[in-house]
Amino acid sequence: MELPNVSRPTRRNKFVPKMVNILVWPLFLNRIPTRKNLSLKGIGIASILCPICSNSVKTLDHAFGGCLQVGKIWDAIGRWVNVVFPSNKGPESIVEWLDSARWLKKKKDVVEEIVITTWWFIWRTRNEVIFGSVEGYRDLIIYSIVLVSFYGFHPVMLSYI
Ligand SMILES: [Zn+2]
Repeated sequence: MELPNVSRPTRRNKFVPKMVNILVWPLFLNRIPTRKNLSLKGIGIASILCPICSNSVKTLDHAFGGCLQVGKIWDAIGRWVNVVFPSNKGPESIVEWLDSARWLKKKKDVVEEIVITTWWFIWRTRNEVIFGSVEGYRDLIIYSIVLVSFYGFHPVMLSYI
């Protein structure tokens, strides 16, 4: 089990809604309950494979960067914003890339806002895929209990922002 990286200071982007910022910090601490994380906690879920591509174990890096489908989203966003994201698009790499970019603060804030918004929609869409079926209902309840218990927030709360 990976230990959370607690060395990164908490920060918030003022351009994104408060609840979206709430998503971001557990993400950096690797506490977003991906299928693999839930499995490591002994929570029985149907599969630990990525629900989007079914090709890889769903880790944080895969879910938000490494998944082929997610990579296509980053490519499109990069073309739109006119930036080249790092080849490793896991959350930690993206933050390091943002921190080391030599841009004006205004540009940095805007790109960061778009990055956070991208994470947000990847996260939301992933939940819709996982929980969009009747079979997913049981997992949703288990998942909700775990979220509220371990993480202090509820996915439905986040899903309707
Ligand atoms: Zn995938």
